[in-house]
Amino acid sequence: MRQILHVDMDAFFASVEQRDDPSLRGKPLVVGGAARRGVVAAASYEAREFGVRSAMPMAEALRRCRHLVVVPPRGDRYIEVSRKVFDVFHEYTPLVEGLSLDEAFLDVTASRSLFGDGEAIARLIKKGIYDATELTASAGVAPCKFAAKIASDFDKPNGLTVVPSDVAAFLAPLPIERMWGIGPKTAPTLRRLGYQTLGDLAKADPAALERALGSWGPEVRELARGNDPREVVPDREAKSIGAEVTYDVDLTTREAVARTLLAHASRVAERLTMAGLVAGAVVVKLKLHDFTLLTRRMTLPSPASDTRTLHDACLALLDRFPLAGARVRLTGVSAQELGPAEAVQPTLFRDEKQDKRRDVENVLLRAKERFGNKPITFASLLEDKTPRAAPEGDLERLPTRRR
Ligand SMILES: [Mg+2]
Repeated sequence: MRQILHVDMDAFFASVEQRDDPSLRGKPLVVGGAARRGVVAAASYEAREFGVRSAMPMAEALRRCRHLVVVPPRGDRYIEVSRKVFDVFHEYTPLVEGLSLDEAFLDVTASRSLFGDGEAIARLIKKGIYDATELTASAGVAPCKFAAKIASDFDKPNGLTVVPSDVAAFLAPLPIERMWGIGPKTAPTLRRLGYQTLGDLAKADPAALERALGSWGPEVRELARGNDPREVVPDREAKSIGAEVTYDVDLTTREAVARTLLAHASRVAERLTMAGLVAGAVVVKLKLHDFTLLTRRMTLPSPASDTRTLHDACLALLDRFPLAGARVRLTGVSAQELGPAEAVQPTLFRDEKQDKRRDVENVLLRAKERFGNKPITFASLLEDKTPRAAPEGDLERLPTRRR
């Protein structure tokens, strides 16, 4: 039988902030933008006691907890800590599939002869992570991905849950909301149809489930029965590096959107360079005023990490969105298919222009490290006619810690 681990850091961004700044420990804290329309990226366990959750609008979070501390995200720091966590994973198996900076599936089936059973390996990994980062993680151990993922969430924080070999029996009593993709929209429908638990879904008539959930129905039934043959597909440590901003005022012109993409591309380039990574693909994401989410993706001719290349790709992608009359409330850029910068294939004809751009990026970065964050940026970022993401006045009024 396979042994799959799902390991998930506890309140990752918030825990990193509390670790780095002792004055934040024990306090209800969220990481996120302080803008009225911003959302919570991560909430500390103290904040969760007030009902504050990640992905919640910041305004709602502040309503629920008046003395909430809002800390701006420090992506580079999280990437740095994430690398240490993934280094620990790789001590136990090469089969590591990262889902995000703080979460991964590991197939440790072949590692057992060296390190003991799945539970023993999970313990070693949790200890290894703590030794390397002073942070806790929760782990689930199971014969398949689906059950491992559910198990890691069972006993958070600092949890370890081992699913017995009878996976279906373990899953049966759990509420249907534990199923991937069954959220606040689908759950009431299913409950009305008489499905309350994963056990009910496991016993369901496949045709009835297909009527209720569409083509996804039969798969849900199989998952609920503990049948999940999906392999752990080893991947790079971070799947993507992105930047995005929700605006207080909708963007209505292509120019305004393009300018935000330049800012994002610059930020992503900086983070790629800092992490020593290059991107093979670029994704642009736009959310419209009615919350429709649109994305367009492009593979780069060769992997890159410089602002100009990323921004050029963004502009090309922007032409592929139906923008006429659109009101855009969020824009984002992410770099995908990440690889180590030094492993860029030396081609016969090196792209000298790109090498030069990468050098410029490195110089900018070193200058920033030396002189602080403010003065050095691409000139066009300075002509900022875009509505500010976070009006300074708001920031002052919010109980925000500024760095
Ligand atoms: Mg997590």
